[in-house]
Amino acid sequence: MKGAKKSYEFDTQYSDIEKELEERKNRIKTICFKTCLKCGETKFIFKFSLDKRNTDGRTNVCKNCRVSEAEKYYYKNKDRILIRNKIYRDNNRRDRSEYFKKYQEENKERLKRLAKKWYKKNRKTIKKRNLEYYRANEEACKQRRKLWIEKNKEGVKKYNREYKRKHKILRAVI
Ligand SMILES: [Zn+2]
Repeated sequence: MKGAKKSYEFDTQYSDIEKELEERKNRIKTICFKTCLKCGETKFIFKFSLDKRNTDGRTNVCKNCRVSEAEKYYYKNKDRILIRNKIYRDNNRRDRSEYFKKYQEENKERLKRLAKKWYKKNRKTIKKRNLEYYRANEEACKQRRKLWIEKNKEGVKKYNREYKRKHKILRAVI
């Protein structure tokens, strides 16, 4: 047959494809996996922290090993670190409270949203904890409530008025 390829030509092409596939597999392997220099385990690349200094963009030591290294360092130098942190805190106390105040003001809505989300997620636990606390400190809680109402008399009155008004409207609608 004219134009048909001879069998060895097919062979060459097939082995080319195989080679290409093998190379691609290796490339994917080096992209997706890395061997930790500390524990020697080959792990998924996301188990290594980002590090721009490395050519592959990841650290040579896996996250687990880095955490235990940091823990070891902390326990070995605990006193020194605590003293250093305290000195830093004392020196920056005013700055820090100003920084947080500014941060809270600038992120008011976002923080509110986050707090709401957090409350929603932990509602059951919070309610249970509050109830337990109330049962254990019932008298103190009642006294505190009384004091609070006394202190916020006007606000409470206004709230009750608003509440009644809203529910009247609701009832009328239903
Ligand atoms: Zn490791």
